[in-house]
Amino acid sequence: MTVDYIIVGLGLAGIAFAEELKSHNKSFVVFEDNSQNSSLVAGGMYNPVVLKRFTPVWNAKEQLDLAIPFYKKLESRFNQTYNYKVDIYRTFKSIEEQNNWFAACDKILLQDYMIPKIVKNENKFIRAPYDSGKLIHTGRIDVNKLATDYRFFLKNENTLKEEKFEYDKINFQTNFIIYKEVKAKRVVFCEGFGLKENPFFNNLPMREAKGELITIHAPDLKVDFLIKSAIFVLPIGNDLYKVGATFNWTDKTKTPTEEGKEELEFKLNSVINCDYKIVDHIAGIRPTIKDRRPLIGVHSKYKQLAILNGLGTRGVMIAPLMAYKLFQNIEIGEQLEKEISINRFD
Ligand SMILES: Cc1cc2nc3c(=O)[nH]c(=O)nc-3n(C[C@H](O)[C@H](O)[C@H](O)COP(=O)(O)OP(=O)(O)OC[C@H]3O[C@@H](n4cnc5c(N)ncnc54)[C@H](O)[C@@H]3O)c2cc1C
Repeated sequence: MTVDYIIVGLGLAGIAFAEELKSHNKSFVVFEDNSQNSSLVAGGMYNPVVLKRFTPVWNAKEQLDLAIPFYKKLESRFNQTYNYKVDIYRTFKSIEEQNNWFAACDKILLQDYMIPKIVKNENKFIRAPYDSGKLIHTGRIDVNKLATDYRFFLKNENTLKEEKFEYDKINFQTNFIIYKEVKAKRVVFCEGFGLKENPFFNNLPMREAKGELITIHAPDLKVDFLIKSAIFVLPIGNDLYKVGATFNWTDKTKTPTEEGKEELEFKLNSVINCDYKIVDHIAGIRPTIKDRRPLIGVHSKYKQLAILNGLGTRGVMIAPLMAYKLFQNIEIGEQLEKEISINRFD
């Protein structure tokens, strides 16, 4: 089999790069071994405002300008819904925070999203003594459904190999590589936290963060917006809500833990005030980088190898733009900005 590209990993990064290749009529094959699951467990929210400080997310406009049409295209190809519009209600902790909200609403980049008024809490099951600020044009991508559909799609096209990509089996030739029965011009690694096992790129400073989420059934809550307080409570339909997420920088497993669940329950009880039942509990590792920026670029020595990683806590927004930039860099020779390029760690 001869292809232009091998992609290793089919989370958000791999899907975004596969789409980039498709749009340029490049052939590829994907290797996916289910060793990581960040995309499969992600809350899937996109939102251009840092909700802790009311500042714009880095490059948010550029990211969303590509991301929204990207998911729309996949919705129409697979005849499914992935993008659910969900407003965000950020509960205030103090009068000072209310004032900060109004100050931020005036900023050019934020005024399309932040509504400059205080929304009174009228739901007796939400604890919000200082009320909330409302964000619009935000939403949730059902990444798990999208990733599942995308695998099925590639399987039907015969371009998915559900097996581990073994790094030591790469046979380097002058302008291509041979990997088992595949001859390819390039390999693009989209392995998330799997990067740690990649001998060509594992010198890069990933500072991964494990996250746990629970799903609750709370029939009394009756909320159709995301509540952002000590944690988020995200409605997903049928009185179900995703609640998360924890941050843990020491545990490197994707196993849900009792401590994670207790932490989420403790915080949840400070946000809502009604009966609920936990119906699911999941965990994954976010591929975050020391400086909180993506990691993309071509290997300095092995020009056939490239990487698309470091999507961190915001893979939904950032993946399509990074796939676009990497493709332009590889195929057109467009230079990558230093802040996203792997060269910044040389
Ligand atoms: C609890 C939690 C909540 C989150 N919530 C949000 C959110 O609300 N919004 C948001 O934007 N982001 C969120 N994120 C972050 C988001 O999930 C990540 O940014 C994104 O999914 C990373 O995608 P990825 O493709 O780089 O990695 P992954 O999704 O981990 O994909 C990497 C893939 O590569 C495969 N792989 C690795 N090594 C190999 C190999 N050698 N051979 C074959 N296959 C291999 C793995 O099996 C995996 O499928 C959340 C993450 C977590 C953990």
